[in-house]
Amino acid sequence: MTRWILTTSFFALFGASLVGCTSSAETPSTAVTATEMSRPAPVPTEYMPQPAVLIYSETRGWRHEEGIAGGNVALMEIARDKGFGYFTTQHAEIFNAETLSRFDLIVFNSATGDSLSVDQKAAFKTWLADDGAVILIHGSIDSSQKDWTFYQDELVGPQFISHPMAPQFQAADVVVLNTGHPVMAGLPDRFEATDEWYSFDGVPDGRFVTLAGLDETTYSPRNTVYGVEDLRMGDQPEDHAIIWSRCLPEGGRVVASALGHTLESFAAPEHRQLISNAMNWTMKSGADDVGCD
Ligand SMILES: [Zn+2]
Repeated sequence: MTRWILTTSFFALFGASLVGCTSSAETPSTAVTATEMSRPAPVPTEYMPQPAVLIYSETRGWRHEEGIAGGNVALMEIARDKGFGYFTTQHAEIFNAETLSRFDLIVFNSATGDSLSVDQKAAFKTWLADDGAVILIHGSIDSSQKDWTFYQDELVGPQFISHPMAPQFQAADVVVLNTGHPVMAGLPDRFEATDEWYSFDGVPDGRFVTLAGLDETTYSPRNTVYGVEDLRMGDQPEDHAIIWSRCLPEGGRVVASALGHTLESFAAPEHRQLISNAMNWTMKSGADDVGCD
């Protein structure tokens, strides 16, 4: 008897939504779509300082657990030091016009795979065209997003091929190739960093500005464990871009950086300087109204 009462109460409470979840064959005209059934969009507090940074790290591909954690903390610290608001989430539902309008910068922190719906992608694209600012970190340029053509072709550019294994993480020299660009401000012309070094199917084309490349003589660009073994892209740092930017014709700016697999990588002062600069430049803060040529 008790069980019957509980069951009845359950259906009294949730019956309507259960009907909505039945297959489309049973409910052809009133079926609730997958999007409508998803969790509601997270809503940042009304007290979030402005300007504000949205840090997004949904993973439908490889999940960089440490890089997401380390990157999120570093991004929040850097944003906080600038007086910016910030909000971290893995909820794709935050990509709606109303919520995105509260943000000035979106950082894809090793967000992998094709995680946004058609409507969410459209909301992002509209937001970006209105002087939106975007930073893509590490896994966010691993080409697992390539089914989203706009993102891959217009924001990322070259396609990821692979990275070294055995050892996976190596110290290598990052060489600044555009010393006058605001995103490179304050960085040494050459600095050592330890990371998982991506190789791509080429360098960014002329729509992008290559900011830094790898000196392949300073590490072993080989993967002896699986897939493509020879990951060399060329003798010169110009042949192996690792950080680049773009000013989009519709408005909006993007910085893409392959750094950031590990938690520790975000402790490096050069990496933090890079992120800080990228925030300022993409958001057109201060006097950094250059760097699009
Ligand atoms: Zn990685």
